[in-house]
Amino acid sequence: MCGIVAYIGSRQAKSILIEGLKRLEYRGYDSAGIALINDKLQCAKSAGRVRVLEDLIDQQDNLHGTLGIAHTRWATHGEPSDRNAHPHTDDIKQGHGIALIHNGIIENYVSLKKYLLERGHEFNSETDTEVLTHLIGELYDGDLEAAVQAALREVTGAYAIAVICEKEPDTLVVARKGSPLMVGVGKDEYIVASDSSAIVAHTTQAFTLDDYTVAKLTRNSFRTTTVDNVPITPQIRELEFGLEQIELGAFEHYMLKEISEQPNALRMCLKGRIDSREGQVVLGGIADYARELVRARRIVFLGQGTALHAAMVGEYLMEELARISTEVEFASEFRYRNPIVEEGTVVIAISQSGETADTLAALHEAKQRGALSLGAVNVVGSTIARETDTGVYLRVGPEIGVASTKAFLGHVAVCTLIALFIGRRRNLSRDYVSQLLAQLEALPDQIEIAVALSEEIREVTKKYIDRENWLFLGRGHNYPVALEGALKLKEISYIHAEGMPAAEMKHGPIALIDDGMPAVFVATQNSQYDKVLSNISEVKSRGGHVIAVATEGDTHIADLCDDVFYVPDVAEPLQPMLTVVPLQLLAYHAAVLRGKDVDKPRNLAKSVTVE
Ligand code: GLU
Repeated sequence: MCGIVAYIGSRQAKSILIEGLKRLEYRGYDSAGIALINDKLQCAKSAGRVRVLEDLIDQQDNLHGTLGIAHTRWATHGEPSDRNAHPHTDDIKQGHGIALIHNGIIENYVSLKKYLLERGHEFNSETDTEVLTHLIGELYDGDLEAAVQAALREVTGAYAIAVICEKEPDTLVVARKGSPLMVGVGKDEYIVASDSSAIVAHTTQAFTLDDYTVAKLTRNSFRTTTVDNVPITPQIRELEFGLEQIELGAFEHYMLKEISEQPNALRMCLKGRIDSREGQVVLGGIADYARELVRARRIVFLGQGTALHAAMVGEYLMEELARISTEVEFASEFRYRNPIVEEGTVVIAISQSGETADTLAALHEAKQRGALSLGAVNVVGSTIARETDTGVYLRVGPEIGVASTKAFLGHVAVCTLIALFIGRRRNLSRDYVSQLLAQLEALPDQIEIAVALSEEIREVTKKYIDRENWLFLGRGHNYPVALEGALKLKEISYIHAEGMPAAEMKHGPIALIDDGMPAVFVATQNSQYDKVLSNISEVKSRGGHVIAVATEGDTHIADLCDDVFYVPDVAEPLQPMLTVVPLQLLAYHAAVLRGKDVDKPRNLAKSVTVE
C-alpha cells in the first residue's frame, strides 16, 4: 500500500525516482510527489497518477539533483488532493528545508499537532504525516539523523519514512516501524524503496530495515541505528528475482500474466519439496518443529482477503489430511477479541507480501499468548517471514497484479504440503501420500489446460457482461473457491458478487435468483457432486442462468447448465488449485470487457499495510 522511493548517489535522481514510482504503482495509490535537493529543496506533487506528476515536472525546470525522495500516497488522513500529497515540508517560512515522505499512520498526530501549533507551526495539509515533518523540523539542530531519531521516539503508529534536508545535501535518512522499507546497496549509491521491484533495476544487493531502525545514508557509506542511536548491523542479501520477472512482456496486464504463469509457479513451489517414492514432503524450515506440529491440538489460520480464502481451503486440507482441528480467522477479528490460545495451538499466518498489517498484528497477539507460529508468505525476508518461528515460502515469483491469483495457488499448494507433512507423520499411509504427491506433481500440466480456456471464457463472459449481480457457489474444498471467484469479480470489474456454500443458497439467497443473475457453480466430480447438481437444478428451475466449472468427460452437466468450462479430473483435495483458474479468467475478462483498469483497480492496494 503506497510507495516510497529515495535515491542518493552520483546520478541524476529524477528519472530513477519516477521509474521507481512506476514500478510501485501496482501497490495502489491516489497521489504522487517528488522532492529533490540541488542547493535548494524543490518539490512537485499532485493528486492522480504518476503520469500527471510527470507532466507537472515537465513544466518545472528546477527539479534536479542527485539526492531525492518520491512517493505514491494511499490516503488515510485527509482526502487525496494536491495539498495532501507527499512530500511534506517543515514550516515554509521558518523551516530548515526538510522534506519527508511517509507510509503508514502517525496515531498520536492530534496531540503532536496541538503542541506544534502552540510552538507557532503552520500546517498546509490535513495529513498526519505533515505533523511528523514539523516535529523533525522543531527538533532539528544541525543533525538530521538525530532529529529523526528524536522525533520517532515521540511517535506512535506505523511508518516507513524517507527524509532529506536542504542544509545536509549529502544525507538521506530513512526509518521504519510496521511499514515495509528496503535499502538497495549499489556502487556509491543507495536506492531505498517499499519493495524490491523499484530496486532490482539498479542493484541486486539489499537489506530490509527492522522495526524501530533508522538508516543514515551518504553517497558512499551508511549506518543503521535504533531510534535510541544504538548501532545495529543489517544483513545485506542478494535479491531473489531479477528485472525480467517484473516486466509485462507480451501480456496486456499483470493479472493475465500471473494467471498464465500459474503452471510454472506451482512447479517452482513444489521443486525439491516432494519425495513421492517415500511418500514424504520435504520442508526444511518446518522440519525442526515436526514434533510440535505432529502434537498440535489446534491450528488457527490467520489471513485477510484472498489469503483468507486460501486458508479456508487449508482448513479442509488440514482436517482431512492431518486430522487436526483447524479454524480460519480474519486476522483483524482475531486480534481484538481476546482470543483463546491453549497449549498446543499453532497459528499459520497467510500473506502474499508478508506485510499485511492485520495479519501481522494478529500474529503478534497469538505469539504473545504462547502459540507456535508459522508463516506462509511469498516475499522473502518480509516481516511475517522474519517474525514467525518457522514457515514455508510460496516461491511463486513476484506478484504485481493487485488482484491476487498465483499467490492463491501458492498458498493452497503450501497448505497442501504442510497438511501432508503433518498427516504423514500422524495417520496417512506412505501409499496414500505417494499417490497424492504424484498427482500434485502432475497438476501444473492440468492447470495449463485450464489456462488455455481463456478465449472460451471470454466469449461466455461477454454474454453476461451487463449483469450487475452474480452468485458463486461451491461445496467442500470448492466452497472457498466460490468465495474467491466472487472476490475477484468484485475487485477488478466492480460487479457485485456473492460467494457461498451451494447449500446455503436455499436458506435465503435463492430469493434473488431471476433472469438477471448468473450463478457460477464449481461442480467438479467429487464426493459432493450429486448435491451440487441438485443445487444447479434449483437455480435452473427458477429461471436462473448457470455457468459451471466441471470435470472433463462429464456428459451430463451440459444438459443442466447454460455454459460449462471443463477442467481435468484431479483428486478432490487438489481441485481448488485447478477450479479457481476459470474463475480468475472470468473476472479478468469481465473487467477488460467493461473497460476497467485491471492492474490498478479503484480504491485497492496490493498489500494492506495499515490496520
Ligand atoms: N497517513 C499518511 C497520509 O494519509 C500516509 C498514507 C500512506 O501510507 O500513503 O497521508
